[in-house]
Amino acid sequence: MTAEKKNARLKIFNTMTRRKQLVVPIESGSVRMYCCGPTVYDYQHIGNMRTYVWQDVLRRTLEFDGYKVKHVRNITDVGHLTSQADSGQDKVEESAKKRHKTAWEISEMFMNIFFDDTETLNILPPHVSPRATQHIKEMLELIKKLEEKGYTYVIEKDGIYYDTSKFKHYGKLTGMSFDELNKYLKGGARVELVPGKKHITDFALWKFSPENVKRDMEWDSPYGKGFPGWHIECSAMSMKYLGESFDIHCGGVDHIPIHHTNEIAQSEGATGKRFAKYWVHGEFLEVDGKKMSKSLGNFYTVDDIIKKGYSWRELRYALMAAHYRSLLNFTFKALDAARGSIERIAEFIRNLSNITEEGPENKGIRKIVDSAFGRFVGAVNDDLNMPKALAELFGMISKINKEIEKGAVKKDDAKYIIDAVLVLDRILGLKLEEFAKQGVVPEEVMKLLEERRKAREERNFELADRIRKRIRDEYGFIIEDTKNGEVIKKA
Ligand SMILES: [Zn+2]
Repeated sequence: MTAEKKNARLKIFNTMTRRKQLVVPIESGSVRMYCCGPTVYDYQHIGNMRTYVWQDVLRRTLEFDGYKVKHVRNITDVGHLTSQADSGQDKVEESAKKRHKTAWEISEMFMNIFFDDTETLNILPPHVSPRATQHIKEMLELIKKLEEKGYTYVIEKDGIYYDTSKFKHYGKLTGMSFDELNKYLKGGARVELVPGKKHITDFALWKFSPENVKRDMEWDSPYGKGFPGWHIECSAMSMKYLGESFDIHCGGVDHIPIHHTNEIAQSEGATGKRFAKYWVHGEFLEVDGKKMSKSLGNFYTVDDIIKKGYSWRELRYALMAAHYRSLLNFTFKALDAARGSIERIAEFIRNLSNITEEGPENKGIRKIVDSAFGRFVGAVNDDLNMPKALAELFGMISKINKEIEKGAVKKDDAKYIIDAVLVLDRILGLKLEEFAKQGVVPEEVMKLLEERRKAREERNFELADRIRKRIRDEYGFIIEDTKNGEVIKKA
């Protein structure tokens, strides 16, 4: 066993091999990861955001495991057509027309909204966010290589196409043969036959600008004025920033039969090397059991959810709580449940931060924490099993809460528990440290508490109530009396 393999912890389901595999990076100690980014022609919905959230959890897990991660996520601001057929409209150009703006203005606007949404959800920004329109040169160079190797043909007045029959093992990501994939795409009418196309699976590398139409975005090329195909963008940008071979390539399951299959054909056709080692794909999100769509009125953006009074944390939690390879049925009931879960964690941390009583280290408590911590980390490293990881966290919270009620948790133990939860939060990304800060009760409140205790001992309940009211109104803390003494929390 190599040292690298011994240190590797994360197992991930690789679509290419159709099994869970230990992630052993190409270069020791670092992981290079590419994620297909948004096409910036409209608002991203929460289904899109689910994808970026699980990819964020993947990156955070790798960093937690000690890898230096280089994360690239592109911006598709040109070339993504409304149909997969290479014959539809460019989504960005079409959206621009509808909104009476230029394609440049539209893509800039929706790109910035996307960046805001990812920041809202505490998704770590990628190290590089390359825009397709700024990498036309690299795409044309890649097309030239493919042309020299005999992979391309021209369809007059249409574009430069990739002849998929020329690439050995075309479609290997799908597990289907060339013929099977052609039949599958035709059967599902995923791709209609463009006149002049030799195979259903062939696709445009470069589209010529239509005659008599002035596009906002078009470039000169040795083949004629036009714009790149969507697939060539990802091949060119991923290889520019991560090298011809890199570790992890992520996307949604819908990318498997066409977009990623074509990225592989382009990249490996041009370089003769394996493109990505691990292919990781996430499932869709449905709302109330139905595909999200504007016409059904179940289409939500991050902003829509926040405007309904939910916090970013609750939304992030709801998006991340299901396994990334299962279909997520998003409901407002689930969002309410996420609210309950967050509140439970918050209360736990606040209560712990308020424990001031000194005492010796409690070995039993530390054991509960350490074993739950280990099982949490084990679960996320097992193909990002978030449902199991969260169950471990809540199992620990229940056990420790009982110890708190018994008064068995002292100040040092409390700090130990909080620290452990905050370390796990490096994976969860819920900014839980904010609850720990909230929990710290000011000195003045502690003094008032002492006075209230005295008043209660003297059975002066009227005074005790007045102090309780003052603590709430002036300092924003609520006091609850339990059989083990008072519990104080932020209102
Ligand atoms: Zn892509």
